Amino acid sequence: MEKENEKNEAATYPCRYCKQKVPKGIARCPYCGTFNPTMDTKRSLIWTVGAILFLYLVGYLVQAFQN
Ligand SMILES: [Zn+2]
Repeated sequence: MEKENEKNEAATYPCRYCKQKVPKGIARCPYCGTFNPTMDTKRSLIWTVGAILFLYLVGYLVQAFQN
């Protein structure tokens, strides 16, 4: 029974805010209105930190080449 449910809901993920099951990749949760409800918060944080580090690295390299 549980396995059947998992199969049927394979394309749904719990909303990160209200935990209701919503289709994967949906732009906005139909229950609570959160944007990108299936986006992993940790992953987006890692991406943000990575982008900042990348910009720092580019800035450092530009300065190193100018000197
Ligand atoms: Zn929600």
